[in-house]
Amino acid sequence: MEKKFKRIGVLTSGGDAPGMNSVIKSVTCAALDMGVEVIGILGGYSGLIHDRTRKLTEHDVADIISKGGTMLYSDRCDEFKTEEGMQKAIATCKKHNIDGIIAIGGDGTFRGATDLSIRGIPCIGVSGTIDNDITATDITVGYDTAMNTVLSLGDALRDTSESHARCCVIEVMGRNAGYIAMETGLALNAIGVALQEMPFDKEALFAKMKKMRDLGQRSFIVVVAEGMGGVFSESLTKEIEAATGIESRFIRPAHIVRGGIPTLADRCFAAKCGYKAVQVLLAGQSDVVICSRHDKIVPVDIKWALIVDRMYKNKLKDGDLDAFTPEQIEEMKALCAERRAYFEEMYEIVNSVGC
Ligand code: ADP
Repeated sequence: MEKKFKRIGVLTSGGDAPGMNSVIKSVTCAALDMGVEVIGILGGYSGLIHDRTRKLTEHDVADIISKGGTMLYSDRCDEFKTEEGMQKAIATCKKHNIDGIIAIGGDGTFRGATDLSIRGIPCIGVSGTIDNDITATDITVGYDTAMNTVLSLGDALRDTSESHARCCVIEVMGRNAGYIAMETGLALNAIGVALQEMPFDKEALFAKMKKMRDLGQRSFIVVVAEGMGGVFSESLTKEIEAATGIESRFIRPAHIVRGGIPTLADRCFAAKCGYKAVQVLLAGQSDVVICSRHDKIVPVDIKWALIVDRMYKNKLKDGDLDAFTPEQIEEMKALCAERRAYFEEMYEIVNSVGC
């Protein structure tokens, strides 16, 4: 191992997610174990600009992995997007002799990490977002816990819906991604799932609900992804009631899904990502994000990750692909196709077995 690194920083930024603490703990303990000191930066990039830091020991992080949220706090910081803000952040790194940073967050956080890496502070990204909306990784830290929280809420709603012969329309977070809605829809036996990635057939839903009611079914769950918009989900609830005569309630758990005790899957995935992030940083890599690909934890170039994200969302701009080889572009296309195939396959299953 190169002995270049004496001290590294760790921060959490953007929307928080359960499991971020497990990444922090893993980063801290792995780095200390490898002979490197750790500085916790408080409140994301804002803490870096305004020099809010604390040294971390193993003891500081020994009791955090069972807690949601982030012990380092999180923030959104527009100043960091400016050259002036960036220079203040670099000055804080110099002041504390921070040789590199592990930044935990979503795609915005990774953009910031790239900007810092380009300016000479090596950064490694680790996902921390419930939305699972980072195309380059199969799963993100926080996603599993969020799904399990929706599952508990949905099961509770099922109980009361059964008593009162109602339908519950649950709108779940996920920003523009329908992963949480899709998986929880299947797990809750939702009769319908509406998400941006797939066309939604309202009439088919109404017909299925009427058929099930005729068979004697009392309760119904419909899951709607946040990306469909609040107006859509609230009006769908009214339309269901009008079209089927089944009393319907609208539920938006919103930020409840962002908190809570991290699941085993999230804690373990987070710990592996944190360890890998330290390993690759100390080995001299920079500007990469730690991803899960087919059950392997691998570093992926952040620029590649950001562009494949744009490709997947059909938001590529002129020149976006210029820096990549034909092989890399083919790899991007294959990954996008894999993600789309997931939605197609899952949607077919949900619509076939949900009742
Ligand atoms: P997330 O990381 O969850 O996607 P945001 O998009 O809010 O959340 O990004 C988190 C923070 O990352 C922002 O508040 C900002 O400080 C930083 N950031 C986002 N985009 C950029 C960018 N283009 N350049 C530099 N920093 C950025």
